[in-house]
Amino acid sequence: MSRVYNFSAGPAVLPEDVLREAAEEMLDYKGTGESVMEMSHRSKEFEGIIQEAEKDFRDLLGLPDDFKVLFLQGGASQQFAMIPMNFMKNKKAAYIITGQWAKKAFKEAQIFGDAVAVASSEDKTFSYIPDCSDLDIPEDADYLYICENNTIYGTKFKELPNAKGHKLISDVSSCFLSEPMDVDKYAMFYGGAQKNIGPAGVVIAAIKEDMITEDTLPGTPTMLKYKTHADADSLYNTPPCYGIYICGKVFKWIKSMGGLAAMKEHNEKKAAILYDFLDASSMFKGTVEKESRSLMNVPFVTGDDELNAKFISEAKAAGFINLKGHRSVGGMRASIYNAMPMEGVTKLVEFMDKFEKENK
Ligand SMILES: *Cc1c(COP(=O)(O)O)cnc(C)c1O
Repeated sequence: MSRVYNFSAGPAVLPEDVLREAAEEMLDYKGTGESVMEMSHRSKEFEGIIQEAEKDFRDLLGLPDDFKVLFLQGGASQQFAMIPMNFMKNKKAAYIITGQWAKKAFKEAQIFGDAVAVASSEDKTFSYIPDCSDLDIPEDADYLYICENNTIYGTKFKELPNAKGHKLISDVSSCFLSEPMDVDKYAMFYGGAQKNIGPAGVVIAAIKEDMITEDTLPGTPTMLKYKTHADADSLYNTPPCYGIYICGKVFKWIKSMGGLAAMKEHNEKKAAILYDFLDASSMFKGTVEKESRSLMNVPFVTGDDELNAKFISEAKAAGFINLKGHRSVGGMRASIYNAMPMEGVTKLVEFMDKFEKENK
Protein backbone atom coordinates (compact mmCIF):
# COMPACT_ATOMS: atom_id res chain seq x y z
CA MET A 1 0.00 0.00 0.00
CA SER A 2 1.27 3.45 -0.73
CA ARG A 3 -0.42 6.68 0.23
CA VAL A 4 0.04 9.95 -1.65
CA TYR A 5 0.05 13.46 -0.25
CA ASN A 6 -3.39 14.72 -1.24
CA PHE A 7 -3.72 18.49 -1.53
CA SER A 8 -7.32 18.37 -2.77
CA ALA A 9 -9.66 21.19 -1.75
CA GLY A 10 -12.40 18.66 -1.14
CA PRO A 11 -13.23 15.89 -0.73
CA ALA A 12 -9.93 15.99 1.02
CA VAL A 13 -7.35 14.15 3.06
CA LEU A 14 -8.54 12.45 6.27
CA PRO A 15 -6.43 11.37 9.24
CA GLU A 16 -4.85 8.00 8.54
CA ASP A 17 -5.65 6.82 12.07
CA VAL A 18 -9.33 7.44 11.41
CA LEU A 19 -9.29 5.52 8.14
CA ARG A 20 -7.48 2.59 9.78
CA GLU A 21 -9.93 2.45 12.65
CA ALA A 22 -12.88 2.57 10.26
CA ALA A 23 -11.30 -0.21 8.22
CA GLU A 24 -10.94 -2.36 11.33
CA GLU A 25 -14.59 -1.81 12.19
CA MET A 26 -15.85 -2.20 8.64
CA LEU A 27 -17.32 -5.69 8.92
CA ASP A 28 -18.16 -5.78 12.59
CA TYR A 29 -18.81 -2.57 14.49
CA LYS A 30 -18.02 -3.26 18.15
CA GLY A 31 -19.37 -6.80 18.21
CA THR A 32 -22.68 -5.99 16.50
CA GLY A 33 -21.72 -8.22 13.59
CA GLU A 34 -22.65 -5.47 11.14
CA SER A 35 -21.04 -2.48 9.49
CA VAL A 36 -22.18 1.02 10.43
CA MET A 37 -23.14 1.25 6.74
CA GLU A 38 -25.71 -1.49 7.26
CA MET A 39 -27.05 -0.29 10.56
CA SER A 40 -30.53 1.07 11.25
CA HIS A 41 -30.43 4.77 12.00
CA ARG A 42 -32.99 4.03 14.73
CA SER A 43 -30.73 1.48 16.42
CA LYS A 44 -29.29 1.98 19.88
CA GLU A 45 -25.78 1.71 18.37
CA PHE A 46 -26.32 4.48 15.85
CA GLU A 47 -27.98 6.67 18.42
CA GLY A 48 -24.79 6.27 20.43
CA ILE A 49 -22.68 7.24 17.42
CA ILE A 50 -24.59 10.42 16.55
CA GLN A 51 -24.93 11.55 20.16
CA GLU A 52 -21.26 11.05 20.86
CA ALA A 53 -20.32 12.87 17.64
CA GLU A 54 -22.44 15.83 18.69
CA LYS A 55 -20.97 15.81 22.19
CA ASP A 56 -17.39 15.78 20.92
CA PHE A 57 -18.18 18.52 18.39
CA ARG A 58 -19.63 20.66 21.17
CA ASP A 59 -16.67 19.96 23.45
CA LEU A 60 -14.17 20.96 20.78
CA LEU A 61 -15.87 24.30 20.12
CA GLY A 62 -17.05 24.95 23.66
CA LEU A 63 -20.50 25.35 22.15
CA PRO A 64 -23.10 26.62 24.64
CA ASP A 65 -26.45 24.88 25.14
CA ASP A 66 -28.38 27.60 23.33
CA PHE A 67 -26.93 26.33 20.04
CA LYS A 68 -28.63 23.45 18.27
CA VAL A 69 -26.33 21.16 16.28
CA LEU A 70 -27.78 19.63 13.13
CA PHE A 71 -26.40 16.94 10.84
CA LEU A 72 -27.86 17.66 7.42
CA GLN A 73 -27.48 16.67 3.78
CA GLY A 74 -27.52 18.51 0.47
CA GLY A 75 -24.02 19.92 0.77
CA ALA A 76 -23.08 23.39 1.85
CA SER A 77 -24.78 24.57 -1.35
CA GLN A 78 -28.22 23.59 -0.07
CA GLN A 79 -27.69 25.93 2.87
CA PHE A 80 -27.47 28.80 0.38
CA ALA A 81 -31.26 28.34 -0.04
CA MET A 82 -32.19 27.07 3.41
CA ILE A 83 -30.73 30.12 5.12
CA PRO A 84 -32.95 32.68 3.35
CA MET A 85 -35.98 30.36 3.41
CA ASN A 86 -35.71 30.07 7.18
CA PHE A 87 -34.34 33.42 8.22
CA MET A 88 -35.23 36.11 5.65
CA LYS A 89 -38.31 37.22 7.52
CA ASN A 90 -38.03 40.87 6.46
CA LYS A 91 -37.03 39.68 3.00
CA LYS A 92 -33.77 41.49 3.37
CA ALA A 93 -30.24 40.26 4.05
CA ALA A 94 -26.69 41.56 3.75
CA TYR A 95 -23.92 39.58 2.08
CA ILE A 96 -20.15 40.09 1.98
CA ILE A 97 -18.80 38.87 -1.32
CA THR A 98 -15.33 37.42 -0.87
CA GLY A 99 -15.38 34.68 -3.48
CA GLN A 100 -17.37 32.26 -5.50
CA TRP A 101 -19.09 30.50 -2.60
CA ALA A 102 -20.23 33.76 -1.06
CA LYS A 103 -21.44 34.89 -4.45
CA LYS A 104 -23.42 31.72 -5.00
CA ALA A 105 -25.04 32.11 -1.59
CA PHE A 106 -25.82 35.75 -2.42
CA LYS A 107 -27.39 34.86 -5.78
CA GLU A 108 -29.48 32.12 -4.18
CA ALA A 109 -30.76 34.54 -1.54
CA GLN A 110 -31.88 36.91 -4.29
CA ILE A 111 -34.45 34.29 -5.29
CA PHE A 112 -36.16 34.81 -1.95
CA GLY A 113 -35.82 38.50 -1.22
CA ASP A 114 -33.67 41.55 -1.29
CA ALA A 115 -30.11 40.37 -0.78
CA VAL A 116 -27.67 43.27 -0.77
CA ALA A 117 -23.90 43.10 -1.16
CA VAL A 118 -22.43 45.31 1.56
CA ALA A 119 -18.77 44.62 0.71
CA SER A 120 -16.84 42.81 -1.98
CA SER A 121 -13.27 42.01 -2.97
CA GLU A 122 -14.14 41.11 -6.54
CA ASP A 123 -12.24 44.18 -7.83
CA LYS A 124 -8.96 42.35 -7.17
CA THR A 125 -10.06 38.79 -7.99
CA PHE A 126 -11.00 38.14 -4.36
CA SER A 127 -7.35 38.27 -3.28
CA TYR A 128 -8.11 40.04 0.01
CA ILE A 129 -10.74 40.39 2.73
CA PRO A 130 -12.37 43.84 2.61
CA ASP A 131 -12.47 46.14 5.62
CA CYS A 132 -15.68 45.15 7.41
CA SER A 133 -15.39 47.34 10.49
CA ASP A 134 -18.06 49.86 9.46
CA LEU A 135 -20.36 48.44 6.83
CA ASP A 136 -23.53 50.03 5.61
CA ILE A 137 -25.88 47.22 6.68
CA PRO A 138 -29.57 47.93 6.09
CA GLU A 139 -31.35 48.43 9.41
CA ASP A 140 -33.98 45.78 8.60
CA ALA A 141 -31.56 43.15 7.30
CA ASP A 142 -32.41 39.78 8.83
CA TYR A 143 -28.78 38.70 8.92
CA LEU A 144 -25.26 39.36 7.70
CA TYR A 145 -23.72 36.52 5.71
CA ILE A 146 -20.05 35.69 5.19
CA CYS A 147 -17.94 32.89 3.79
CA GLU A 148 -15.24 32.79 6.43
CA ASN A 149 -12.52 30.90 4.56
CA ASN A 150 -12.56 31.26 0.82
CA THR A 151 -11.54 27.85 -0.44
CA ILE A 152 -10.94 28.85 -4.04
CA TYR A 153 -9.08 32.13 -3.49
CA GLY A 154 -7.26 31.24 -0.26
CA THR A 155 -8.39 34.11 1.94
CA LYS A 156 -9.74 34.03 5.48
CA PHE A 157 -11.47 36.56 7.73
CA LYS A 158 -8.90 37.10 10.51
CA GLU A 159 -11.41 39.21 12.33
CA LEU A 160 -15.17 38.83 12.07
CA PRO A 161 -17.07 41.73 10.50
CA ASN A 162 -18.76 44.25 12.71
CA ALA A 163 -22.33 42.97 12.29
CA LYS A 164 -23.73 46.00 14.13
CA GLY A 165 -26.21 43.94 16.06
CA HIS A 166 -27.35 41.86 13.11
CA LYS A 167 -27.26 38.10 13.21
CA LEU A 168 -24.02 36.76 11.75
CA ILE A 169 -24.24 33.64 9.59
CA SER A 170 -21.01 32.06 8.40
CA ASP A 171 -20.04 29.36 5.95
CA VAL A 172 -17.03 27.73 7.61
CA SER A 173 -16.82 24.73 5.28
CA SER A 174 -13.11 25.00 4.59
CA CYS A 175 -11.89 26.14 8.01
CA PHE A 176 -14.22 24.04 10.17
CA LEU A 177 -12.43 22.97 13.38
CA SER A 178 -9.08 24.26 12.12
CA GLU A 179 -8.83 26.71 15.03
CA PRO A 180 -10.89 27.87 18.03
CA MET A 181 -13.97 29.95 17.22
CA ASP A 182 -15.57 32.78 19.12
CA VAL A 183 -18.91 30.99 18.86
CA ASP A 184 -20.92 33.62 20.73
CA LYS A 185 -20.43 36.03 17.84
CA TYR A 186 -22.48 33.86 15.51
CA ALA A 187 -26.19 33.20 15.06
CA MET A 188 -25.29 30.28 12.85
CA PHE A 189 -22.25 28.65 11.34
CA TYR A 190 -22.20 25.66 9.09
CA GLY A 191 -20.04 23.69 6.76
CA GLY A 192 -19.87 20.74 4.44
CA ALA A 193 -17.85 17.96 6.07
CA GLN A 194 -15.73 17.06 3.07
CA LYS A 195 -13.16 19.80 3.50
CA ASN A 196 -11.90 19.36 7.03
CA ILE A 197 -14.21 17.07 8.97
CA GLY A 198 -15.13 13.90 7.14
CA PRO A 199 -16.56 12.44 3.96
CA ALA A 200 -18.88 14.25 1.54
CA GLY A 201 -22.59 13.95 2.25
CA VAL A 202 -22.71 15.52 5.69
CA VAL A 203 -23.31 19.17 6.55
CA ILE A 204 -22.99 20.29 10.14
CA ALA A 205 -24.86 23.40 11.22
CA ALA A 206 -24.78 25.08 14.62
CA ILE A 207 -27.75 27.42 14.99
CA LYS A 208 -28.92 29.52 17.92
CA GLU A 209 -31.95 27.72 19.30
CA ASP A 210 -34.22 30.81 19.25
CA MET A 211 -33.71 31.23 15.49
CA ILE A 212 -35.29 27.88 14.76
CA THR A 213 -39.04 28.39 14.37
CA GLU A 214 -42.01 27.39 12.22
CA ASP A 215 -41.98 30.89 10.81
CA THR A 216 -40.30 30.23 7.45
CA LEU A 217 -40.99 31.72 4.03
CA PRO A 218 -44.26 30.44 2.55
CA GLY A 219 -43.75 27.28 0.51
CA THR A 220 -40.63 26.14 2.36
CA PRO A 221 -40.58 22.33 2.02
CA THR A 222 -40.59 20.26 5.21
CA MET A 223 -37.09 18.95 4.54
CA LEU A 224 -35.72 22.47 4.15
CA LYS A 225 -36.98 23.71 7.51
CA TYR A 226 -34.39 23.67 10.27
CA LYS A 227 -37.21 23.04 12.71
CA THR A 228 -37.97 19.69 11.09
CA HIS A 229 -34.44 18.49 11.74
CA ALA A 230 -34.07 20.19 15.09
CA ASP A 231 -37.27 18.63 16.50
CA ALA A 232 -36.09 15.19 15.42
CA ASP A 233 -32.47 15.62 16.57
CA SER A 234 -31.28 15.17 12.97
CA LEU A 235 -33.21 11.91 12.64
CA TYR A 236 -36.33 13.14 10.82
CA ASN A 237 -35.35 10.93 7.92
CA THR A 238 -32.34 8.70 7.33
CA PRO A 239 -29.26 10.81 7.96
CA PRO A 240 -25.89 10.18 6.24
CA CYS A 241 -25.10 7.58 8.90
CA TYR A 242 -21.69 6.41 7.79
CA GLY A 243 -20.46 9.95 7.17
CA ILE A 244 -21.56 11.03 10.64
CA TYR A 245 -19.71 8.04 12.10
CA ILE A 246 -16.49 9.11 10.35
CA CYS A 247 -16.97 12.74 11.46
CA GLY A 248 -17.26 11.45 15.01
CA LYS A 249 -13.93 9.68 14.66
CA VAL A 250 -12.32 12.84 13.29
CA PHE A 251 -13.60 14.79 16.32
CA LYS A 252 -11.94 12.24 18.60
CA TRP A 253 -8.76 12.52 16.56
CA ILE A 254 -8.76 16.32 16.94
CA LYS A 255 -9.25 15.88 20.69
CA SER A 256 -6.30 13.48 20.76
CA MET A 257 -4.24 16.11 18.93
CA GLY A 258 -4.94 18.53 21.78
CA GLY A 259 -8.12 20.25 20.60
CA LEU A 260 -8.62 23.35 18.49
CA ALA A 261 -5.94 25.56 20.06
CA ALA A 262 -3.31 22.90 19.37
CA MET A 263 -4.77 22.38 15.90
CA LYS A 264 -4.38 26.07 15.19
CA GLU A 265 -0.76 26.09 16.32
CA HIS A 266 -0.06 23.07 14.16
CA ASN A 267 -1.84 24.64 11.16
CA GLU A 268 0.03 27.92 11.56
CA LYS A 269 3.39 26.16 11.60
CA LYS A 270 2.42 24.06 8.63
CA ALA A 271 1.15 26.96 6.53
CA ALA A 272 4.21 29.07 7.40
CA ILE A 273 6.50 26.48 5.82
CA LEU A 274 4.72 26.96 2.50
CA TYR A 275 4.16 30.72 2.72
CA ASP A 276 7.79 31.34 3.73
CA PHE A 277 8.93 29.36 0.73
CA LEU A 278 6.57 31.27 -1.59
CA ASP A 279 7.79 34.61 -0.23
CA ALA A 280 11.41 33.66 -0.89
CA SER A 281 10.95 31.92 -4.24
CA SER A 282 11.68 33.67 -7.51
CA MET A 283 9.50 31.24 -9.46
CA PHE A 284 6.45 30.57 -7.27
CA LYS A 285 4.29 33.38 -5.93
CA GLY A 286 1.32 33.39 -3.57
CA THR A 287 -1.74 35.17 -5.01
CA VAL A 288 -3.25 36.58 -1.81
CA GLU A 289 -2.53 39.67 0.27
CA LYS A 290 -0.51 38.62 3.30
CA GLU A 291 -2.97 39.81 5.97
CA SER A 292 -5.76 37.75 4.40
CA ARG A 293 -3.93 34.47 3.91
CA SER A 294 -5.81 31.27 4.69
CA LEU A 295 -4.16 28.56 6.78
CA MET A 296 -6.09 25.96 4.82
CA ASN A 297 -5.97 26.80 1.11
CA VAL A 298 -2.82 28.20 -0.46
CA PRO A 299 -3.06 29.27 -4.10
CA PHE A 300 0.12 30.08 -6.00
CA VAL A 301 1.34 30.64 -9.55
CA THR A 302 4.51 30.75 -11.59
CA GLY A 303 3.14 33.31 -14.02
CA ASP A 304 3.58 30.86 -16.89
CA ASP A 305 0.77 28.44 -17.81
CA GLU A 306 3.10 25.91 -19.38
CA LEU A 307 5.35 25.89 -16.33
CA ASN A 308 2.30 25.51 -14.07
CA ALA A 309 1.16 22.48 -16.06
CA LYS A 310 4.65 20.97 -15.97
CA PHE A 311 4.84 21.48 -12.22
CA ILE A 312 1.42 19.93 -11.60
CA SER A 313 2.22 16.88 -13.69
CA GLU A 314 5.70 16.31 -12.21
CA ALA A 315 4.34 16.84 -8.71
CA LYS A 316 1.67 14.21 -9.35
CA ALA A 317 4.27 11.73 -10.57
CA ALA A 318 6.21 12.38 -7.35
CA GLY A 319 3.16 11.62 -5.16
CA PHE A 320 1.78 15.14 -4.54
CA ILE A 321 -1.71 15.07 -6.00
CA ASN A 322 -4.53 17.53 -6.68
CA LEU A 323 -2.35 20.63 -6.81
CA LYS A 324 -4.16 22.14 -9.78
CA GLY A 325 -5.80 25.45 -8.93
CA HIS A 326 -9.54 25.96 -9.24
CA ARG A 327 -10.63 26.32 -12.85
CA SER A 328 -11.67 29.92 -12.21
CA VAL A 329 -8.20 30.95 -10.95
CA GLY A 330 -5.70 28.69 -12.70
CA GLY A 331 -2.21 28.04 -11.36
CA MET A 332 -1.86 25.84 -8.31
CA ARG A 333 -3.54 25.46 -4.96
CA ALA A 334 -2.35 23.38 -2.03
CA SER A 335 -5.12 22.64 0.46
CA ILE A 336 -3.46 21.79 3.74
CA TYR A 337 -6.34 20.89 6.02
CA ASN A 338 -6.04 19.54 9.57
CA ALA A 339 -5.26 16.02 8.38
CA MET A 340 -2.37 17.02 6.10
CA PRO A 341 0.73 16.07 8.07
CA MET A 342 3.58 18.56 8.54
CA GLU A 343 5.76 16.17 6.57
CA GLY A 344 3.47 16.52 3.53
CA VAL A 345 4.12 20.26 3.38
CA THR A 346 7.85 19.96 4.11
CA LYS A 347 8.23 17.45 1.30
CA LEU A 348 6.12 19.54 -1.08
CA VAL A 349 8.34 22.54 -0.43
CA GLU A 350 11.47 20.43 -1.03
CA PHE A 351 9.94 19.30 -4.30
CA MET A 352 9.08 22.88 -5.31
CA ASP A 353 12.61 24.00 -4.51
CA LYS A 354 14.07 21.24 -6.65
CA PHE A 355 11.66 22.06 -9.48
CA GLU A 356 12.60 25.70 -9.32
CA LYS A 357 16.32 24.93 -9.59
CA GLU A 358 15.81 22.51 -12.46
CA ASN A 359 13.62 24.91 -14.43
CA LYS A 360 15.45 28.20 -14.05
C1 LIG B 1 -16.88 23.42 -1.04
C2 LIG B 1 -17.54 24.59 -0.49
C3 LIG B 1 -18.92 24.80 -0.65
C4 LIG B 1 -19.79 23.86 -1.45
O1 LIG B 1 -19.92 22.66 -0.81
P1 LIG B 1 -20.88 21.51 -1.36
O2 LIG B 1 -20.92 20.57 -0.21
O3 LIG B 1 -20.21 20.92 -2.57
O4 LIG B 1 -22.18 22.09 -1.68
C5 LIG B 1 -19.48 25.90 -0.06
N1 LIG B 1 -18.74 26.77 0.65
C6 LIG B 1 -17.41 26.61 0.82
C7 LIG B 1 -16.64 27.60 1.61
C8 LIG B 1 -16.78 25.52 0.25
O5 LIG B 1 -15.46 25.35 0.41
